[in-house]
Amino acid sequence: MINSRKVAIIGCGMVGATTAYTLMQHGLFSEMVLVDVNKERAEGEAMDINHGMTFASPMDIYAGDYDDIMDAAIIVVTAGAGQKPGETRLDLVKKNAGILGTIIPEIAKRHYEGILLIVANPVDILTHVAQKMSGLPRNRVFGSGTVLDTARLKFLLGRHLNVDNRNIEAYIIGEHGDSEIPVWSSANVGGVPIHDFCEMRGFYNHEKAMEEIANGVKNSAYEIIRKKKATYYGIAMGVQRICEAIVRDEKSILPVSIYLDGEFGLEGATLSLPSIVGKNGIEKIVPISLSEEEQKALAHSAEVLKETAATIGVK
Ligand code: NAD
Repeated sequence: MINSRKVAIIGCGMVGATTAYTLMQHGLFSEMVLVDVNKERAEGEAMDINHGMTFASPMDIYAGDYDDIMDAAIIVVTAGAGQKPGETRLDLVKKNAGILGTIIPEIAKRHYEGILLIVANPVDILTHVAQKMSGLPRNRVFGSGTVLDTARLKFLLGRHLNVDNRNIEAYIIGEHGDSEIPVWSSANVGGVPIHDFCEMRGFYNHEKAMEEIANGVKNSAYEIIRKKKATYYGIAMGVQRICEAIVRDEKSILPVSIYLDGEFGLEGATLSLPSIVGKNGIEKIVPISLSEEEQKALAHSAEVLKETAATIGVK
């Protein structure tokens, strides 16, 4: 039986540990199991986070193994090497698909009935591998995708326009990586089309601003990794947001990564599109309206991802 108040995190490095810390602070779950190939690491993180419990809400947090996590509502997979400076996310594919190949069979053979949330990179390819390898339906195996990139887009736009970024409706779709696409055609702030809002704030050079902001989003991870070796706060909060949508059955629209089965005329690639997320995982991919150029860029992103998946023999 699935326990809707239980979460597991596989991989307790920077991303996994920060996610655990974030989840503990939000009090969404009452039980959290930390799993790592380095058991001492998981134990150390559980101890450290437990020691802050008196300042938060009661919760059972411990290091465990696969047998301990099969009733978790969500298993978050952050196990995998991070990007090295100058390395693209796709460079990581072989290394991290190998690691995933030791994790997913452990879950599949125990007939897991909850939701698998993939975070390790390259997240789209690993989500694709996890879905195929686990045999679970695609609505229950998805990736954090461009949730983080979309948060970065909103942050940069909010700062540029001097407006609360929560009032911005805009998405990054496609690959969580170099071929990602900002959907400018439907972006708006408080219901006002983005270009009109920019002009209201005194900005008229739309092409230049869009290019700078899109590049800022795309290069954020590279810049943070160059400066401090890894990124983990933003993604941890993004994972918390996805978990919240699931546990509270919020039906929130989040740009998560899912295997495409004909949506937008695309098949066989796993990438991010705004999707309704609730207690059963992804309920529906939202048919966001795209310009012709955005549709072409999405098809290109799907091709890039399919080619990369093919390099490790995954279709
Ligand atoms: P890290 O090296 O700090 O941690 C990785 C952890 O995984 C280590 O503790 C390691 O022992 C563990 N691990 C390795 N193999 C394992 C296995 N078979 N079973 C269980 N645990 C295993 O790396 P990090 O900085 O935490 O990053 C983790 C992953 O998250 C990377 O792939 C990184 O690129 C990715 N990431 C994704 C996003 C996103 O938006 N999706 C953002 C940031 C980082």
